[in-house]
Amino acid sequence: ISASLKSGQLREGQASSSSAAAAVEEEKEGKKENKVVVCARCHSLRHYGVVKRPEAEPLLPDFDFVAAVGPRLASPSGARSLVLLLADASDFDGSFPRAVARLVAAAGEAHGSDWKHGAPANLPRALLVVTKLDLLPTPSLSPDDVHAWAHSRARAGAGGDLRLAGVHLVSAARGWGVRDLLDHVRQLAGARGNVWAVGARNVGKSTLLNAIARCSGIEGGPTLTEAPVPGTTLDVIQVDGVLGSQAKLFDTPGLLHGHQLTSRLTREEQKLVRVSKEMRPRTYRLKPGQSVHIGGLVRLDIEELTVGSVYVTVWASPLVPLHMGKTENAAAMVKDHFGLQLQPPIGQQRVNELGKWVRKQFKVSGNSWDENSRDIAIAGLGWFGIGLKGEAVLGLWTYDGVDVVSRNSLV
Ligand code: GDP
Repeated sequence: ISASLKSGQLREGQASSSSAAAAVEEEKEGKKENKVVVCARCHSLRHYGVVKRPEAEPLLPDFDFVAAVGPRLASPSGARSLVLLLADASDFDGSFPRAVARLVAAAGEAHGSDWKHGAPANLPRALLVVTKLDLLPTPSLSPDDVHAWAHSRARAGAGGDLRLAGVHLVSAARGWGVRDLLDHVRQLAGARGNVWAVGARNVGKSTLLNAIARCSGIEGGPTLTEAPVPGTTLDVIQVDGVLGSQAKLFDTPGLLHGHQLTSRLTREEQKLVRVSKEMRPRTYRLKPGQSVHIGGLVRLDIEELTVGSVYVTVWASPLVPLHMGKTENAAAMVKDHFGLQLQPPIGQQRVNELGKWVRKQFKVSGNSWDENSRDIAIAGLGWFGIGLKGEAVLGLWTYDGVDVVSRNSLV
């Protein structure tokens, strides 16, 4: 599959239906020399640039970057490796490619701390690229704050001493930050470097690489697959012409993050959960014994509170309904409303399919009702911003295996 894909450019809507039909016939009859057997999905991608059966479940297994690319990162030949770690601004912790970041951090740690004058040439370097910045309520955020916040979340995600060569806040959709990123990548890659773009499925990698290619003056040249269906970039693909004569840019397949809620949702459910426009806050004032639901996916209970009430702001897709009510009625909500009024999941039978409903407890403290003190972020969905004075004990319910983290507040 990889050989056949590498040999052909993946472009949207290139083949006419008659040439595509002829290709199918040729493949059936094995007329062409060196014919490679491809699955239906790859065939669709190769010949049409799109997946023909969007209702089908993702067929691709996860891409193991650490095993596939890891050994090539520390290059004894002197060709510098640069990893672009992509994370979605609207789901930073869920989408951050932490296994790859850990690999980069571990390489640095193994080398010791003795590199005041820049990283040694054979150590991989990394740039953090925060995508889809336009989804954040940018007018009320300072770029410096987002920058520092993203840096600290990346270090937390890497769980070690991740040294970043830089942090870029970009929106490929709006063209924000793409030129700066390209300039920095070119500078770090030098004449012969290898650059690897890495990110979870749907992080916006294809859109960004297309924007970078356009920015570097490539029109009608190598265009990557850009599809509303996540995970449609297959195998490692070299993007020619972007970095200069000998430096190479590689696009890697989108990583499958089982800890992101979206990874267990159907296409229809994903459409409800995915954020496509600038996020808008929905705020509740809650007292102990009250709960707020995000669809049939997550519930936050105020279990204990030392002072007054707590302000809970939901940052999630506006297509997912919220419900506020008494915690004592929450069990009935699951039975009577999950999958119906509270979607996703779509349909009551999907509730059990999503997994066991489990609780995590968080203790948070703060000193202002006007500002959020903490975020409770749910991978693949969004987050609750918590504004309070004093201390609170919060219960967060979601499906087993979905990552939930308490973090410094973003907004
Ligand atoms: P990939 O799976 O990482 O290659 O992701 P894609 O590039 O296919 O993008 C996934 C989805 O995010 C698509 O619906 C894109 O239109 C959308 N997207 C990509 N970049 C941006 C961006 O900068 N802003 C917004 N709002 N949406 C984006």
